[in-house]
Amino acid sequence: MTIWNLGSINADMVYDLPHLPAPGETLAAHGLDRFLGGKGANMSVAAARAGSRVSHIGAVGHDGRWAKDRLTEYGVDTRYISEVDLPTGHAIIAVDAEGENLIILYPGANHALDVSHLGQALSSASTGDLLILQNETNAQVEAAQFGRKLGLTVCYAAAPFQAQAVQAVLPYLDFLILNEIEAEQLRQETGMGAADLPVRHVIVTLGAKGARYLQQGNDPVEFSAHKVQAVDTTGAGDTFTGYVLAGMDRGMPMEQAILQANRAAALMVTRHGTADVIPDLREVRDATFD
Ligand code: AMP
Repeated sequence: MTIWNLGSINADMVYDLPHLPAPGETLAAHGLDRFLGGKGANMSVAAARAGSRVSHIGAVGHDGRWAKDRLTEYGVDTRYISEVDLPTGHAIIAVDAEGENLIILYPGANHALDVSHLGQALSSASTGDLLILQNETNAQVEAAQFGRKLGLTVCYAAAPFQAQAVQAVLPYLDFLILNEIEAEQLRQETGMGAADLPVRHVIVTLGAKGARYLQQGNDPVEFSAHKVQAVDTTGAGDTFTGYVLAGMDRGMPMEQAILQANRAAALMVTRHGTADVIPDLREVRDATFD
């Protein structure tokens, strides 16, 4: 089976600065690093590193071929990533000596995907394939509708959170994953708790507390996180999601997929970086925790 991911692709541009700039200030950076990022790209890399066949659907600008190449290196099928006349989505991340940061996010090409291109990509999908969406691209509702019509298992990671975006895709979902903060935002803005959602499988991730699985009609199941020395939690949620999808793709019971995702995400928080440091299945299996 294939995991289809309509997802964002970003260049994370990290500038090392002596301090964060004040309005009107011109400041020289000590260094610049460019990383592959975007929640979509992170999830594709995680699922591919977990051993799944992943086809990423998305868009980059003419400046984004390196990002496509990087995804290919990590085992992701990039055939359905189009090149558009807008800059590749990017995050300008300023970091000072204390690690304090400031981020400017420009979605660029991530919001310029042609719906006919999406339809063309998904026409190659087979019944029973998984489709994952997040909230960093356009065309999520169209994708969810196509997915439903084609008999795909439609999954949505509600990040970055927007109540309207969740409500728009909700009727087409088989699986929803969100973190504790997003679940609380959803409750405040719509009155719906995670357990009330008309979705067969819901996972709420709870950071250092682990995760909760809510299957319609069953009692919630709690999973504790592994005790690790966390140094960088960016990408932990995306890694968790990618590993859950890979488990589902392999036909694992959801509980087993969550156990593996919990291990992968625990390893991830012990590492600096995002897509480039997502652990593969062997590392996840071999890891020992206290
Ligand atoms: P979050 O997006 O913060 O809810 O985290 C996603 C997943 O990453 C959690 O469900 C855990 O499996 C893992 N995780 C996050 N933070 C930690 C931590 N400090 N220690 C261990 N695992 C963590």
